[in-house]
Parts: sequence; C-alpha cells; structure tokens
Amino acid sequence: MSRIRELIDTLNKWAYEYYVLDNPSVEDREYDRLYDELVRLEKESGRVEFDSPTKRVGGEPVKAFARHKHISRLYSLDKAVAYGELDAFFARMEKAGAEPEYTVEYKFDGLTMCLTYDGGKFVRATTRGNGTEGEDVTAQCLTIKSFPLTVEYKGLMEVQGEAVIRLSVLEEYNKTAKEPLKNARNAVAGAIRNLDPRVTAERKPEILFYNVNYIEEDLKTQSGHFEFLKRNGFKVFPFLKICRGADEVKSAIEEIETCRKSLDVLTDGAVVKLNDCSLRETLGYTDKFPRWAVAYKFEAEESVTTVKKIIWQVGRTGKLTPLAIVEPVELAGATVRKATLNNYGDILRKKVREGGKVLIRRSNEVIPEILGSLDPVEIGEAVEKPTVCPYCKSAVVESGANIFCPNRLCRPRITGKIEHFAQKDAMDIEGLSEMTAGLLYDKLGVRRCSDLYSLTADNLAKLEGFKEKKIKNLLSAIEKSKDIALERFIFALGIDGVGKVGARDLAKTFGGVRRLASASEEELTALENIGEITARAVTGWFADADNAQELELLLSAGIVPKASQKAEGVFSGEYVVLTGTLTKYKRSEAQKIIEELGGECQSAVTSKTTLVVAGESAGSKLEKARKLGAKIIDEAKFEEIISSEN
Ligand SMILES: [Zn+2]
Repeated sequence: MSRIRELIDTLNKWAYEYYVLDNPSVEDREYDRLYDELVRLEKESGRVEFDSPTKRVGGEPVKAFARHKHISRLYSLDKAVAYGELDAFFARMEKAGAEPEYTVEYKFDGLTMCLTYDGGKFVRATTRGNGTEGEDVTAQCLTIKSFPLTVEYKGLMEVQGEAVIRLSVLEEYNKTAKEPLKNARNAVAGAIRNLDPRVTAERKPEILFYNVNYIEEDLKTQSGHFEFLKRNGFKVFPFLKICRGADEVKSAIEEIETCRKSLDVLTDGAVVKLNDCSLRETLGYTDKFPRWAVAYKFEAEESVTTVKKIIWQVGRTGKLTPLAIVEPVELAGATVRKATLNNYGDILRKKVREGGKVLIRRSNEVIPEILGSLDPVEIGEAVEKPTVCPYCKSAVVESGANIFCPNRLCRPRITGKIEHFAQKDAMDIEGLSEMTAGLLYDKLGVRRCSDLYSLTADNLAKLEGFKEKKIKNLLSAIEKSKDIALERFIFALGIDGVGKVGARDLAKTFGGVRRLASASEEELTALENIGEITARAVTGWFADADNAQELELLLSAGIVPKASQKAEGVFSGEYVVLTGTLTKYKRSEAQKIIEELGGECQSAVTSKTTLVVAGESAGSKLEKARKLGAKIIDEAKFEEIISSEN
C-alpha cells in the first residue's frame, strides 16, 4: 500500500473517531502532522485521491446552485401538537396492524439534507428543497466532516439527515464574528446555502443522519435504518426508542421534552414512526405526508415584550391588518421585532395598547402572534381604529370584523395583486416581485394585472435598474405566462378563499374559465374543497363588473388557460411502481414516459398498484407486489410496450 493511501486511511479513521463518534484517539497535533505530510505528497505526485481529507477544506465559491432531483421524494411529516392528535394517529396505525411497534426520535431544527452515494462513493449533497428537487450543495457539504466519502454499501442510495450547528459552536463563532448570528437554524441554512464553501467551513455545521431515503436493499425497520447508517460511518444521534403502544411512545416523548433543554442542538419536537417498513408500505402516503409517521411538535415558546406602535398594512383585497412593532426580544433563538394581530376587534379583546406589555408566542417560522396584554391596569395609549387608509387616505369601510380600503387603485392593493398574480404557483412570471410591481405602479401607471401584457421594452427602460437583459427576461417571462394551466390561472385571479387546491378542483370540474364564471353557488358548493363562503366569493367575483372587464382584458391579451387533459396511452388506468435499476433509463425518464402514456407513478407498492416495472436487483417492493397480485414486468417488456405505442 502506498504511503498516500496509508495516510488517507489513517486520517479518515481519526476524523471518524473525532467527528462521528466524538471519541478521538489521537491528539490534534498528531493529526496535523500526518495531514501536512499528505498535503506534501499530494503536491509532489500531482494527484488527489477521491476520499482524501484535503478535499474537505472548502474550495472556490460557486456561481449558482444547480437544481437536482431526488431519486425518491423527501416527504415532510404530518404534525401533531396535542396528545389528542397523537391518539388519532395511534388509532389509524392500530387498524393497520396488530400491536404495531413505534420508534421515537428527536426532531432537530436545522436544514434537511439529502446525500447520494453510488458504487460505495459519495456522489452529491442536496438540500431538501421542495421535497422533489433541491439545490446541489456538494462543495459546501464537503467541508462537513461528520459523513463518509466512502461507504461499505455498494448500491445506489440516498440518505437523509438534518444539518445543524451546535449552540456552543455558534456561541464560539459569535465571539469573534463581525456579524454575530442570532439563531442556530438560520445560521446553518445560511452556512450551507452559501455560494462560498469557505463560509460553510467557518461555521462548522454537522449533519445528524436519521433516514435512508432511497435504497434497493430492504432495511425492514426504522431501527434497521439507524443501524445501517451507523455501520456505514454516518453520524447518528444516539437516541432511538423502540416503543410498544401509545403509552410507551408518550413517555419517550416526555423524556425528549425534558432532555432537549440541556441539549447542545436546537430541537423542536419528536418524530414517531412505525418501525416495520413493510407495514409502512401498506399504509403508503397522502398527497403530502407518509401515513405512518407523525412529528409531535412541542409547545411554541413564549416571551414578554413591549408594543412600540401598531401599524396597519393593506393587502390585495384592501383589508387592513394590524401589525405590532415591538421592542426587540429573543424568542426561540431569533430576534423578534414584529408581532401579528388579526383585526381591530382582536386588539380590543387582547387589550393591546401602544406602550403596554404583551405576551407573544412564536410557533414555527411565522411572525409571532400577540397572545394578550400583561398589564394589570391600562398602560400606554389605546390603539385608534383607523378611519382612513394609511396609504391613500380613502375613508375605510367596515365589513364584518374587518376594515377595508375601498379604493381599488390603492397602491398596496395593486402591488399585492400583481405579486399574487405573478407568483410561482400562479402565472409564474419570474422577476416580478412586489418591489418591481411598485415601480410599475409608480412609474408606468400599471393598475391592473392585464396592464402587464402591454408593457414594452421602451417603457421598462425608464425604470431604475432595468438594463437590456433584465428587460428581456421580464418581457419573455410575461409572454411565456400566456400559455398557462387553467388551475393556475384561476388561482392567479386572487378570488378570496380560492387557494391552489380549490383552484385545481374548479379547473377540473368546470374545464374552462367562462364555464366557471357562470357556475351557480349550488354547483360550487358541491365540490369537495369549496365551502359556502368561498362559493359566494367565486360568484361574487365574476359578477363584479370590474373583475369581469379585467378577465376579458386578460383573455384578449392572449392568455390561453388550458384545462389539463390527462394523457392517454398504453398505461392509462395503471398505477405503476418502478423498482430496481433500469439499464437504459434514468428513473425520472421512465416515470415521465409512463405518465405521458397515461399511467400514474407511485413511490411505493400499495393495494392500488397495478403494475411494477422491475429493474436489476429489485428488492422488497417486488415481493410486496407479488403478494398484492400486481402485474410485474422487466425492463425488456417495458421497452416492448413503449415501442408498440410509437
Ligand atoms: Zn388605500
């Protein structure tokens, strides 16, 4: 064995003991001595091995993060905040299998990561992103030493973990930092989603692994996942309780709730999973979550502060919402400067006064809410009910519990509307932020979303900061938005109460925006996701002359909302699962082909599954499919079917 290989293996072993096991066997000095020798030899030979520790110091900054699709979706977990919700979960699990066994583990509050390995080697690290696709942060991640570059397992796999920065490390960092970091969660996200890997290295994040997200081998249980990760050299937090029944789970959660306060890492809950992976596959997934796991979130944290003043914000519907500006206060590791209130009635009910003390509560990452006044007697100034819009000074009108600015041309209403219209899930006009909408309002007289479609390069050139490239990009994004799915167009209209799900329902049922415009309240309330109030909002929206005119303007500007037509083909009506490795297609390609030919792809075999395409070394899914009687074909047959279609 060459000296270089010997040095790499020794240094990697020491790093493993130090970073993963927290149990170093040599002094730093000794490590440094060998490390320096390795650097010298690598320089002389002009070669750096794949798994050399010298690769992990942080390279040059990257220009942008490439997007990368995860092999298998990284689901978020359904949340429970009360034992009642947990009980409902247990009841569902018990229905699925007699006396199921659960695992309970910590839920860390950091940045979720996905690491890909193939042929026993580290390939890539990505952030969770939207679950399907994340950002490639390989260069940044390489500087983290709590995961291996080579593993014993030789197949293709993706493992999942939470990147965190220890609170003590953060404190140490802040002692000398130019800009101290307030919150460990933001610090780790900023460290990893930083174009410069040297910044990542400086902040010393680590990754705690807890899940094998994709693997062809059958790991059988959650504890099996943990064992597998440990065996392959990943850092795993040493707490995994295997529990029988609800009571044991609850006492494990209580243990976590007590112990987490003295932990050096931010946590915000406990994760409960079914231990048995085959039972999990039977349960499958909802649209968003696995059915076999739940995250129990601990009570959000509370704090006391003083209200400096109340300001009123105007939304796209004209509604005035109070926002409290408060004395900065630390809460759950972040500095809070603002807190929300619902409306004027809420202010009275909670006895909030300018200058008075209030209790605020922060749950998750949203702006904290004011729970109520803490003053035994009235202190400070009473909050006045606005009589005019803070922006346009129009006299406000009251409707129910809320106050509205009736001026349809009021600036924040228009910019809010445009921002909603242009967002990713709506018309997806990239580069059209609320700020840009403000510029369009101020300088180019844009007052309606339909005005966007008559913007010209000459107009835009008048705006500050709009150079040729930016103008071209914005105009082409606007042009591109004309070709739009009906459901997104309906969502973009900004009808009260019609979110993405409701819009999808409306698009599916009515198949066209004009058909929707003439729908009756009865027709609307018949839909699953549309209640009475929303139904009235929909008919009201289309009955409004101004809206009707805007709709015509949008359509005559060339927008053609398309009702989604499900593709038809040989796979129509089939629920298809891919398993094993296909030699000629990437998994994502095969999925696309199946969907284009009318099939629906599933990530796991369920009782619904009708067809399994089995590649090489297909694992447990195959067995399961056999048991459930799904049809199984190999890659050759798959190819034959596809080519018969062409
Ligand atoms: Zn106004």
